[in-house]
Amino acid sequence: MVHFVGAGPGAPDLITLRGKKFLEQADVIIYAGSLVNPQLLDYAKEGCSIYDSAKMTLEEVLDVMRQAEKDGKMTVRLHTGDPCIYGAIREQMDALDEDGIKYDSCPGVSSFCGAASALDLEYTLPDISQSVIITRMAGRTPVPDKESIESFAAHQATMVVFLSTSMLEELSDRLVTGGYTKDTPAAIVYKATWDDQETYVCTVGTLAQTAKEHNITKTALMIIGDAVSACSYERSKLYHPEFTTEFRTGTKPQ
Ligand code: SAH
Repeated sequence: MVHFVGAGPGAPDLITLRGKKFLEQADVIIYAGSLVNPQLLDYAKEGCSIYDSAKMTLEEVLDVMRQAEKDGKMTVRLHTGDPCIYGAIREQMDALDEDGIKYDSCPGVSSFCGAASALDLEYTLPDISQSVIITRMAGRTPVPDKESIESFAAHQATMVVFLSTSMLEELSDRLVTGGYTKDTPAAIVYKATWDDQETYVCTVGTLAQTAKEHNITKTALMIIGDAVSACSYERSKLYHPEFTTEFRTGTKPQ
């Protein structure tokens, strides 16, 4: 059996209880060493075989899983954040399906949630934005044309941009072409929830300059939209005294 486990964004106590239990029970752990906090490996039992997938190909990862299965061992495949976001898990699962190896997936706290906590942000402020667009600039992995930054920018929703820290000038230009103004609030969160986390609130126009000033070239998220520093928004309906819900009867409007 293989358990795909979300390691969370960085702080070792942000893994789920279930994920921690799997780590404690695992005979084999394959972890994404480029981003997973190695402190999580302290949860592994003695004798557990540990592999860093940053140095491995998909084929090598699969070979380790297949051998473990043959030996009747339990494997944890530890991915950063939540495995479902840019986790490259589908290709592993498809190969395991072909070999008849059972697996399941344990969610984790994605870095886009860690970044919101770092800034005390609510991405979905009433009257400001009720949607979060998670995307990236094309790198070696292409992004379909219909998902261009410009087309997403046109929505003026809250946008969280992964995997793009080295392309911030182009990101800014494309956000502006798409419809954000240069002074739209933006933020850069480096290593959210790690001990060396850094947060910077800036604007769409100053993203590149801000990253440069602070030597941020990777492991960062860019958050775009008025939700970053909105000072006027509608209060929630749910907690309004006049609002009746299944659990509470609202007062009459004055
Ligand atoms: N599955 C992960 C994302 C993996 S893609 C998740 O759910 O978070 C790797 C990218 O995620 C990095 O290039 C960076 O953009 C972002 N990232 C991962 N951890 C981060 C963190 N702690 N702080 C800021 N960005 C992070």
